[in-house]
Amino acid sequence: GRVLVTGANGYIAIWVVRRLLEQGYTVRGTVRSESKAEYLHQSFAAYGNKFETVVVEDITKLGAFDEAVKGMDAIEHVASPMHFNADDPDELIVPAVNGTTSLLESARVYGASVKRIVFTSSCAALMNVQDTPRVFTEADWNEQAIAEVREKGRAAAQQTKYRASKTLAERAAWNFMEKNKDALMWDLVVINPPQVYGPMLHEVPTPGALNASMHMWYSNVIEGSLNAYQLATMGSVWVEVRDLADAHVLAIQKPEAGGERIIVSAPPFKWQDWLNAARACNLDTPPGNELYDPAKATHHVSVDTSKAAKLLGMTYRSPMESARDIAADLKTRGFI
Ligand code: NDP
Repeated sequence: GRVLVTGANGYIAIWVVRRLLEQGYTVRGTVRSESKAEYLHQSFAAYGNKFETVVVEDITKLGAFDEAVKGMDAIEHVASPMHFNADDPDELIVPAVNGTTSLLESARVYGASVKRIVFTSSCAALMNVQDTPRVFTEADWNEQAIAEVREKGRAAAQQTKYRASKTLAERAAWNFMEKNKDALMWDLVVINPPQVYGPMLHEVPTPGALNASMHMWYSNVIEGSLNAYQLATMGSVWVEVRDLADAHVLAIQKPEAGGERIIVSAPPFKWQDWLNAARACNLDTPPGNELYDPAKATHHVSVDTSKAAKLLGMTYRSPMESARDIAADLKTRGFI
């Protein structure tokens, strides 16, 4: 099979490319400029002409993907801005939403051989912020972020702007499907991952250039940005980047996943869990909170992962396994 992966140079997408190539697929990756393709060609040189790149300069332009989708059997749409320094929320929302609709429109018109499109959404599209503990499911939508951005605009919290962009992009994808349901030869699968951590394959010249989620991991686990209280009480849900890449491949392989949004997530964590895992892997991190007892930790936010288990057969790596490989990666890069 031939698979298009958008934003192939990103943290998650490069793992998706790698897993697809390992499984024998031919992969076409999109990047924004030729200079970003070079590192990918070096990384996947062993796969010869089974890997190619195409430049899509502006994903928001209608027709941007017309050429890229031609001849593809499946598409993994991973590209979307993920950073927390947007002034105008549209810096995130426009590429997230229009990038998605332009891709789907190109696939509608020129994707004659496309059978499935997988869209990387986020748990940000279904979780809202609240005071009481809650288990989120695929039935939830983050209306809160959209409302807050509408109300506050530029003054909305950075996290909220990002979350609104993901919610609106995913909604645009489902709206497109609804509108065109009788005219499409392909179906849609949406993957909703929480925070993504794990070793990196992509080009990262300095720790300052880490992608947003690994930047947070590095700051909290290696640089010691959190105090003892925060380490024992703050956390979230997460998924390992390699598990997430596997989910993207399974999502194009499992017929029964069609038309579904699917949460993929490991169990919740507190940051001290990561410090403990890192120290067990001989990473020279500070001890943090030595009174922390994981058995007594309560988790405010969790997610129902039964659908991913049922449809994709997902199982998940532990912080220990992930920390070991992150440590090796950071050492190789000279970041620790
Ligand atoms: P990265 O920042 O590493 O990758 C983002 C990719 O999207 C890059 O290829 C980037 O290209 C591309 N991109 C960003 N903005 C634009 C734009 N305006 N036009 C075209 N391309 C653009 O992030 P991740 O790999 O972590 O994220 C990938 C996807 O996963 C995103 O959809 C994100 O929302 C989602 N996600 C990530 C989570 C995480 O914790 N990391 C959690 C949940 C979902 P370039 O390098 O040229 O900027």
